[in-house]
Amino acid sequence: MSDWYCDELLAGRVEVERLFEDEGVLAYWHTRPAYERHAVVTPKHHVDSLVSCDAGTLASVLEVVKAVAAQFTLWYGGARVITNLGMYQDEPHFHVHVVFGERT
Ligand SMILES: [Zn+2]
Repeated sequence: MSDWYCDELLAGRVEVERLFEDEGVLAYWHTRPAYERHAVVTPKHHVDSLVSCDAGTLASVLEVVKAVAAQFTLWYGGARVITNLGMYQDEPHFHVHVVFGERT
């Protein structure tokens, strides 16, 4: 199965508008947003999904999710935090959606 995160995004083959980045985690604006405001937070090394994520990586990802969600709440008045699993997961690389507003 192709992995857009490892093969494209983290390989530097696509440009994204970054919200935050450190050595382990990247947060950026979704390239094809499904909500009025739609950010994505992902670990910079391969992790299959939330349920296979080690505790250290999960803590660093959630720290960034927390910061982005806090910023959304400040900017827009609210946020929802979503991660998909199993039949709902469209990419085989762990990522968390931080969204505001209606589906577009
Ligand atoms: Zn990957």
